[in-house]
Amino acid sequence: MSPSLRAIPGTQTTPKSLTVLGATGSIGQSTLRLVEQHPERFSLDILTAHDNVEALAELARRFSPRQVVIGNEAHYAALKGALANTSVEVAAGEEALIAAAAAPCDFVMAAIVGAAGLAPTLAAIQAGRTVGLANKECLVAAGELVMRSCRQSGATLLPVDSEHNAIFQVIECNHNDDIEKVILTASGGPLREMDAQSLTQVTPEQAVAHPNWSMGAKISVDSATLMNKGLEVIEAHHLFSLPPEKLEVVVHPESIVHSFVHFVDGSVIAQMSPPDMIIPIAHTLHWPERHGFDAPKLDMVSIGSLHFEAPDHARFPCLGLAYDAMKAGQSMPAVLNAANEVAVHAFLDKRIGFTDIQRVIGQTLDSSSPQGYASLEDIQSIDAKARRIAETFIT
Ligand code: NAD
Ligand code: MG
Repeated sequence: MSPSLRAIPGTQTTPKSLTVLGATGSIGQSTLRLVEQHPERFSLDILTAHDNVEALAELARRFSPRQVVIGNEAHYAALKGALANTSVEVAAGEEALIAAAAAPCDFVMAAIVGAAGLAPTLAAIQAGRTVGLANKECLVAAGELVMRSCRQSGATLLPVDSEHNAIFQVIECNHNDDIEKVILTASGGPLREMDAQSLTQVTPEQAVAHPNWSMGAKISVDSATLMNKGLEVIEAHHLFSLPPEKLEVVVHPESIVHSFVHFVDGSVIAQMSPPDMIIPIAHTLHWPERHGFDAPKLDMVSIGSLHFEAPDHARFPCLGLAYDAMKAGQSMPAVLNAANEVAVHAFLDKRIGFTDIQRVIGQTLDSSSPQGYASLEDIQSIDAKARRIAETFIT
């Protein structure tokens, strides 16, 4: 097991204080749904969002956190005005976000989307916090830096992403050395059965209509291209210190098995649950304990059968691009991530087509070469350069 995934002894007796980075998003809201179910177990310290003043103000009135932070400084006055009759402190801007991430609390939910989550998540880790990691892009962009910071500060990283949470639940009770390979499951997304020609015509509305999971727009498009699985393979590589050749992907349309761990003695252990992020979120929030809540229940008889198939790399080349970037190492996963973010935004804005996403990422990777990095600033400059290159291919 990775050294950062260490056990906290003891049983919870007082409410856990929580900071939720990205509180207005899909993961943030699921986290708050759990808090609402068990107000005696949690107290909210800080909630953050980027642009959505109304949604953040509404959460602040409902949950009475100590502080709220809006990332986009231009919205400070509007948020302050909306919370004028409350005792909630209001802050704004990048520095306030980073200070919020590092502020003392029992658990930080890192649920900002994209590389924008790297600096705040890293600040929480460097402050030695217990971090529920949903923001996979920070591990893709800066895996070595994030994991090194974890070891140095003694922070505890708890994977929220359902596949990584599944793997964590399995290997927490076993030895990492005995793992033969890990297989991450992928739903295949809403376009799994579409032919190559039709894929070129896919609209943003079709791409975000995921059959099993309800998620933010960016990760929904990533699921449709299979880039989400590519990002997750890189995430698993860092979280569990597993080399690329021990990480595989299988398409499993029902999204019931969240990953398989194959051990050297031929045993395979998997974790199953209904496809609802509230389950891995609850696991991390309560860890190392388990607590019941109004969770969706798995009924295998009504599901009847589970299916598995190999990913189609020809129709969904993003998965292969992610493996290439992981194997090339150094700055290449950060380049992959930045190019993907640029391409997905351009697709959502209808500036490029669905299959242009893979083209833009491929061209950006081909125009970049691996470069070492040591600091957050190094990664930020690699990320900015890759975005500039990717923009030149948005045509
Ligand atoms: P979302 O788009 O629904 O929410 C994103 C949140 O991040 C919002 O609160 C938004 O205000 C905030 N944000 C956006 N840009 C920001 C910026 N520049 N600075 C500060 N805050 C910013 O996203 P989501 O679906 O909740 O996903 C969040 C993260 O969790 C992503 O990394 C995603 O890959 C990961 N994840 C999500 C799911 C899911 O089911 N939604 C599952 C596994 C992993
Ligand atoms: Mg996932």
